[in-house]
Amino acid sequence: MNIEDRKKELTPEENHVLFNGGTEAPFTGELLNEHRVGMFSCKVCGTPLFASDTKFESGSGWPSFDQALPGATENIEDNSLGMLRTEVRCATCHAHLGHVFDDGPATTGKRYCMNSICMEFKEEEK
Ligand SMILES: [Zn+2]
Repeated sequence: MNIEDRKKELTPEENHVLFNGGTEAPFTGELLNEHRVGMFSCKVCGTPLFASDTKFESGSGWPSFDQALPGATENIEDNSLGMLRTEVRCATCHAHLGHVFDDGPATTGKRYCMNSICMEFKEEEK
């Protein structure tokens, strides 16, 4: 998969969030209220990132998960906007996905705050 070719297929908004570290407006993402059983994957390279059973309602307005699939994401220190945050990227193609915070549910204590626009959902086949 050639990332430069994939970029041309994506919308300007998708490119902005995925490759410039942008953030979609809260409560706008189409995956925010996705409750089917399945897999959330990277919109650029298709790598599975989050299983539906790790998704929870955080109230933030962005799809939230308490853990990523092992090895699927990479964490990068982010000092932008005057805050120390941990950026989450796709470990395969390094596209920006969102941030991870330490105020998640008791299961893991983590809150992966993801941009819906950076992911695709595929329902598990019955
Ligand atoms: Zn990717």
